[in-house]
Amino acid sequence: MSRGLSPRDVAFYLRGRLTRQLTRLATARDRTPPVVPVPVDEVIRGDRSPQALTRLLEGRSNADREAAVARYLRARSIPFSVHRFASAEGSGENFSVDVGAGARVLLLAAHHDAVDRSPGANDNAAAVGILLSLIERLAAAPPSTLRLRFLFTAAEERGYLGARHYARDTQVGELAGVLSLELCGIGDSVVIWDAGEETPLLRTVGSALEGIGLARDRRYHVVGRIPMFGSDHRAFAPLGVPAYGFTLVPSANADALRHLIRRPVPFDTYHTPRDRGSTLEPPALALALQALEAVIGATAQAGLR
Ligand SMILES: [Zn+2]
Repeated sequence: MSRGLSPRDVAFYLRGRLTRQLTRLATARDRTPPVVPVPVDEVIRGDRSPQALTRLLEGRSNADREAAVARYLRARSIPFSVHRFASAEGSGENFSVDVGAGARVLLLAAHHDAVDRSPGANDNAAAVGILLSLIERLAAAPPSTLRLRFLFTAAEERGYLGARHYARDTQVGELAGVLSLELCGIGDSVVIWDAGEETPLLRTVGSALEGIGLARDRRYHVVGRIPMFGSDHRAFAPLGVPAYGFTLVPSANADALRHLIRRPVPFDTYHTPRDRGSTLEPPALALALQALEAVIGATAQAGLR
């Protein structure tokens, strides 16, 4: 255990361990054959839709997933920072890309690691693909009143370890908010979760989603905690930053967000060998991208002050 370990760190660490043990139990009898990953260079040369970019990570080991993100950013000449961390809990590299200008920062996070034996397509290669796609789309016309930070974290599956180190080592005061993307590749409605009391960010996200024709409680949902589910934004929330999860689910299964006992889609493949690229839905990825672009536009306008 490292110095400066707070009770919260211990709780996150234990949560990560429990998750991994439950995953091992749940997948012990799954005989789904492993995914053969596509060579990284082929992905880099290929098209840059979120769907195509999920292959950057799908089916690789965590070390290879981490290396693939850095290699992609370098190959595409996208300037990025490396945040390396190491502690008794584990080590890894977070990568961040800043786009735009302004004093306030909206942080969009997606973890690049996956659990053992899962190809990690929806969790979380899809989210990484969406953010990489978004970076290239914004490069043409970066916002002038808002800085966006795209953060690709390591070791989310170890109790948000990469994000916890990042949050500790960064100026959280400049963060207007955090959205952590998880399971963004299946479904037709957006879920903003871990939402407690109303904040300027929640209001802005809500009006942005309404603005692209999504009706609340039908095509987008704002909910509290989702049982058995967490993400990197939880490393920022205790530091006073408005921080939420951003996920897609099929509208028909939105009710399950409150219970999650029967494991409906997309949670049925979550953390299993069946979390493969073939299960991803291009319209879901497109919706996530459109929703985030709307949120960025609205946030740049609102300023969130
Ligand atoms: Zn995840």
